[in-house]
Amino acid sequence: MAIPERIHRNIDTRYWNPGAEYFPVKNRYTAGVAGQRFFEELKENGKLFGTKCSKCSVTFVPARLFCERCFARLEEWVDVGLEGVLYSFTHVYRTKSDEEKENPSIVGAVRIADGLLMHHLGECNEKDLYIGMPVKAELKPVGEREGKITDIAYFKPL
Ligand SMILES: [Zn+2]
Repeated sequence: MAIPERIHRNIDTRYWNPGAEYFPVKNRYTAGVAGQRFFEELKENGKLFGTKCSKCSVTFVPARLFCERCFARLEEWVDVGLEGVLYSFTHVYRTKSDEEKENPSIVGAVRIADGLLMHHLGECNEKDLYIGMPVKAELKPVGEREGKITDIAYFKPL
């Protein structure tokens, strides 16, 4: 079993054999300390936060704890707003399970501060999209947010 494969019981891994006992594995990844706060701010306050490196002046979005350039601990949290710029986009014709989608969707990479968020694009005509287009996150209503990146329903042109 390769590492990226999903397992649902610890006994399915070949690197650890606990015998007959097993416990269910419900989550594969943790969002981490910075990710937890990033998603809590998104859910509770409808804000996107990054963290800024005081040495490199780079603002990472989503927020992280350490600068990937100089390894400094990042402690300055920055409200980067909900607006960004379309960095790239593409059409998606197949589902994750490789089935043809009934309605193809558009996915974009949106630059916010010095970071990129991959997300769906909505309320747009694909023929009008262009690299560098100003876009804004459209959030789900407060009661529907779960602390996930899907709390952003989509990005739309400004
Ligand atoms: Zn740095």
